[in-house]
Amino acid sequence: MWPLLLSSLRHVEDDLVMMDDLNQGLLMHAVKERYKTDDIYTWVGANHSVLVSVNPFKTLPIYTVNSMEEHSKPSPNKLPPPHTFAIAQSAYMKLKLECKNQSVLISGESGAGKTEATKQCLSFLAEVAGSETNVEQRILNANPVLEAFGNAKTLRNNNSSRFGRWMEVQINERGSICGCRIENYLLEKARVTFQTTGERNFHIFYQLCVSGIGHKFNLDKPSAYRYLNQSGCESVRGIDDSADFNDVALALSQLCFSEEEMDELFGLTCAVLHLGNITYNSDGDQGSVVAPAGSTWLQNAARLLGVDADKLATCLCERSIEVRGEKNRILHKPEEALEAADSLAKAVYAMLFDWLVKRINDAVRDTDPSDDASRRFIGILDIFGFEIFKQNSFEQLCINFCNEKLQQHFNTNTFKEEENVYRSEGIKFEKVPFIDNQPVLDLIEKKPVGLLVLLDEEIRLPKGSDAKWLEKCDSNHAKHECWLSDKSARMHMEKTSFTVRHYAGDVSYSSSGFYDKNKDALFRDLYDMMAESKFGVARATFPPKDKNPRKITSISGQFRTQLNDLMKVVNETEPHYIRCVKPNDAKKPNQFDTKMCVEQLTYAGVFEAVKIRKSGYPFRLLHRSFVARYRCLAKGRTQIPVSGGDDRDTAKKIMGCLPQDFSSVQIGNTMVLYRADEHRILELLRNLAL
Ligand code: ADP
Ligand code: MG
Repeated sequence: MWPLLLSSLRHVEDDLVMMDDLNQGLLMHAVKERYKTDDIYTWVGANHSVLVSVNPFKTLPIYTVNSMEEHSKPSPNKLPPPHTFAIAQSAYMKLKLECKNQSVLISGESGAGKTEATKQCLSFLAEVAGSETNVEQRILNANPVLEAFGNAKTLRNNNSSRFGRWMEVQINERGSICGCRIENYLLEKARVTFQTTGERNFHIFYQLCVSGIGHKFNLDKPSAYRYLNQSGCESVRGIDDSADFNDVALALSQLCFSEEEMDELFGLTCAVLHLGNITYNSDGDQGSVVAPAGSTWLQNAARLLGVDADKLATCLCERSIEVRGEKNRILHKPEEALEAADSLAKAVYAMLFDWLVKRINDAVRDTDPSDDASRRFIGILDIFGFEIFKQNSFEQLCINFCNEKLQQHFNTNTFKEEENVYRSEGIKFEKVPFIDNQPVLDLIEKKPVGLLVLLDEEIRLPKGSDAKWLEKCDSNHAKHECWLSDKSARMHMEKTSFTVRHYAGDVSYSSSGFYDKNKDALFRDLYDMMAESKFGVARATFPPKDKNPRKITSISGQFRTQLNDLMKVVNETEPHYIRCVKPNDAKKPNQFDTKMCVEQLTYAGVFEAVKIRKSGYPFRLLHRSFVARYRCLAKGRTQIPVSGGDDRDTAKKIMGCLPQDFSSVQIGNTMVLYRADEHRILELLRNLAL
């Protein structure tokens, strides 16, 4: 058994579906063996739309311009070697040949290599498709800017993207890049005011502190700021903040940001740091005052936000509320004032990030409207994978919900594609079974009682709370197959937790904080103050608010709208998938933790995909290729021509003259399709015949 298996491994080289045995252990073995020789990529399935990529944690010489060139001219007779470039090439070719929009959907856990894969696809397209306007350079320039503002050092990844993104690279009828559209998802803004020990805030803060222009914004060292000095991590080995800042500044100028825009952008970023350092004393009664009087932190923050310092102090230390047309003041205790400053800091930063993306979009937009009708795109999705931590909260529910959607797309697509092949080959097939995760999607989003729907309702109630929301979830979903926490079980666990049965496994969430995180409130006074800032960038990020309180947009509501829009777009594309795997937690080269990898490939639905493919006819050879490979089995039989003849007919005859039973082999319109058993026999006979 073993020699046969190994020989077939060697024969199939780089495609998991072609393996003899379905067993997870053997699939894993194949990926691991390849990894040992730095073959970090493996195909899943012969049509090359699913690529497994294992992070090498070392620089491999396989991303050169030469390599791009090679991948851009695949040989017609050979399967393309597995590579991110091969995925990008296949998307680009299909877009040109079939005039159909394409997507590259990249998933995996933090540190698995998603963003690197995204950048490789973008560089490949920039190199191979090019542009007539140099817009591809501007698209590449978006990267250092987005990474400075949206990435941070975490325990899992020194350059971890703290937001999801979809980049639609637009291609005109001549096959050149003509523009791009970027959409960003769920920036982790909580990081602005707090980081776990050993992690950092967003890179840009440290870059500004060490850059030459810091003095313009009265910046001190990182250690001087509450938002930067609490996690015990200010610099990162392998990251040169000063050099990175120069890249950011250069990229911004190439994206045509004006001096003024850059000043306001950096100024607002620095304002966040000053804001975090303002301290408050009790006013001797119920309220608070900024202390010391004339605080330079307050002065600096106000100046850089473009607002009056006294006004800022007032808006932090108290808020006004309107009850039946009557205005009242509510005084903040010192700790409430501090919280108000934190929420303003997060709001300013998050709004600034949205503005930045919008502004970059302006710089990379296609300016030639005549191309409109014939314009197609390749969309690249770089988004967080399933998150199953010890402590899971609102953010994880949103992220996992997003992954359920993508997983459903992946499963349906794998299975549809399979059926399409059989249909176009005109052969009989049985319905291919697959796991449908519609129930868990319904549990989370279906109106009127999905978890996130109920949460949105809760934040509109005057006395809503985490506990009341959980209560409602319990009573509505007690019998739901994906809702796993009945009340009695909860008595033994944390009282506020609930468990959802996700595609990737059961995940327990703590409900505390869901209400506030979803509501994401910034006091009205602070918002209005920002909307009147003297800086254009600040005003653009805080547009005047609709006064209708029923229209409160929640974080989950916004995200669900974005996600549904994304899925609508993705559903109209031909998808290609890159499943990124992180082989060890130490971020070390040449270390392959099999258990970790099995888990990740399971989450990614790779085993499921292999199963779907294998339940049909995974071995497919064109009539001609089949005859070329197996004609030798019929040596000496007169009814089979030594060469020439109708290939389809010859293929049939070859099997007809053998004593074995080949009745389950399907001869389709262009291919011979069969299963592993027949493949094994054919190969064995061939070895004997040669
Ligand atoms: P993710 O976006 O999935 O969180 P990244 O793409 O940022 O992960 O990758 C994390 C780190 O792993 C990178 O900073 C880089 O050091 C390393 N890495 C990822 N992919 C590759 C690759 N193909 N070659 C070399 N190193 C890689
Ligand atoms: Mg990333």
